[in-house]
Amino acid sequence: MNVAMIDDRIVDANQLDSSYLDRGLYFGDGVYEVLRSYNGKIFALDDHLARFTDSLAGVEIDGVDMNQIRSRVLKAFDTAKIPNAKIYFHVTRGSGPRDHNPAVNMNPNFFLTISEIGDYSKSKINGYTVSTYPDLRWKKCWIKSLNLLPNVLAKMDAAKKGCDEAILVDENGLITEGSSSAFFACVGRTIQTAPTSANILPSITRKYTMKAAHNLGLAFIEKSLTPEQAKNADELFLGVTTKDIIPVVKFDNLAIGSAAPGPITRKLISEFEKFTK
Ligand code: PLP
Repeated sequence: MNVAMIDDRIVDANQLDSSYLDRGLYFGDGVYEVLRSYNGKIFALDDHLARFTDSLAGVEIDGVDMNQIRSRVLKAFDTAKIPNAKIYFHVTRGSGPRDHNPAVNMNPNFFLTISEIGDYSKSKINGYTVSTYPDLRWKKCWIKSLNLLPNVLAKMDAAKKGCDEAILVDENGLITEGSSSAFFACVGRTIQTAPTSANILPSITRKYTMKAAHNLGLAFIEKSLTPEQAKNADELFLGVTTKDIIPVVKFDNLAIGSAAPGPITRKLISEFEKFTK
């Protein structure tokens, strides 16, 4: 008998629920998306589905019908009836006996959760503290892959230091992004962030922050910063779907500006709100 063991329970390996054989579990072999709704309306659904399509292609998971994914997201959102919801979904390559080389014609697995989004209004008023951590990730960070161990370790390190987010620094000494957010600096009336490349996720919030900056007549440059440059910026902030824009008030224990959300960041938060109304 092929045996499996789940904690202390011995089971027939041939009778295992297929979720135990999911390649997402063994290899992180899958891709995901996180989107949110504001007051009953999903924000930037097309942007997220387009990025998801790119992620699937990036890891060669074929045969996923994007119209079906869209319908499932809408159906689940409709059922949940949560006006301000966080919508998470992933697709893995499929389930099967553990083998690095996947079987041909696997059926991809789809999984989705919807939950009430946290209230981040206090974070927007008080700001986040951040600490730096080496960017230990692979070379295809533009793919929103389930392989998030380096991100998890970075976030754990930040938490140990009493910080809210880890800012990843690559081997050239340049900031790429946060462990689960895009990273921005503000110097004068210029917003600066890393250029889109294989080294960062093409953040949807980044795209809308660029639009908000444009609407406010701010300059926007795509150029990586060093931690030293970040410490000397007038303002810093993070961008992520679940929280849109969050001010950063401390970077590696050093106060940024007056250690309170800066005026440009606050303007950007208000301008961003117009997209979500
Ligand atoms: N960068 C990383 C590594 C992330 O995990 C995330 C979001 O989870 C972001 C950036 C922000 O992306 P988005 O604005 O699409 O939520």
